[in-house]
Amino acid sequence: MGLPVLDLAPLSAGPAGEAQVAAALGAACRETGFFCLTNHGVPQRLLDAVFAGSARFFALPVETKRAVAIERSRHNRGYVPMEGESLDPSRPPDAKEAFNMGRELAPDDPDLLAGKPFHGPNQWPDLPGFRTTLTDYFDAVQGLCVRLHRAIAIDLGLPPGHFDRLIDRPLATLRLLHYPPHPGTFDGGQYGAAPHTDYGNVTVLAQDDVGGLAVQRRDGGWIDAPPMPGAFVCNIGDCLMRWTNDVYVSTPHRVVNRTGRERYSIAYFCDPNGDAPVECLPTCTGPDRPARYPPTTGADYLRERLDATYAFRRT
Ligand code: CA
Repeated sequence: MGLPVLDLAPLSAGPAGEAQVAAALGAACRETGFFCLTNHGVPQRLLDAVFAGSARFFALPVETKRAVAIERSRHNRGYVPMEGESLDPSRPPDAKEAFNMGRELAPDDPDLLAGKPFHGPNQWPDLPGFRTTLTDYFDAVQGLCVRLHRAIAIDLGLPPGHFDRLIDRPLATLRLLHYPPHPGTFDGGQYGAAPHTDYGNVTVLAQDDVGGLAVQRRDGGWIDAPPMPGAFVCNIGDCLMRWTNDVYVSTPHRVVNRTGRERYSIAYFCDPNGDAPVECLPTCTGPDRPARYPPTTGADYLRERLDATYAFRRT
């Protein structure tokens, strides 16, 4: 039993196709919270370019990478060194390194000038083409996330454009990830990515052919999410689970790279706008299903979750 596969091709076939995709997406979001996505419209050449840029970045000397360290940013942007993050603070830090970028903002962006949380400049390494490639990919996958949110709205019985104005200045993060082969010196408690759930609305993951991602079933067992050429692996995050009053599920997952090869993946975390009200959707509550969470905002929720993950943010 693998992950369900969702084909987005019918989306271009008018309302009937949209309804078909929305129903299939809704079933996956309610049952497993994970699905493989095909015919997603993000060009393969753009994916290839991001993977190539990622390999070039992580191959830089560590001092060069540290020049753009995430500790230099209050906005969750930059380089996270090997063992710099604990997705499960009760375990050893994760055996991975990462590079985060957020939405590119003009220097006179009102939210940036106002000092709003997560509205800051990206930190770019000195690599030709890297910035353009990543921002092009960011925009392409955000466009895909808008289409997914329209299908989600249809499934939830909301107007198709319900989320449009709530995710048009997203606190999204594009994250390059590098997992070295799991070395024998690591003790058994250390993962590439410890079991965790994601924080945002939707995660769109591209992985190379190495594998290592596993998803927890409802019964507690783990199933592999093997690479599927040309497809993304998508999952629901905690913010959308909260927004839907637990109608959609955010499912634990983990990474262990036992292959002896380097694993590279590219994650896009679609969080809503910072000022988006995250409160129980009207179609996700009723007399027998009261709202389970108090209202919050996109920014407050993300800050709470990131502060728990990074020691440096709490100091
Ligand atoms: Ca994750």
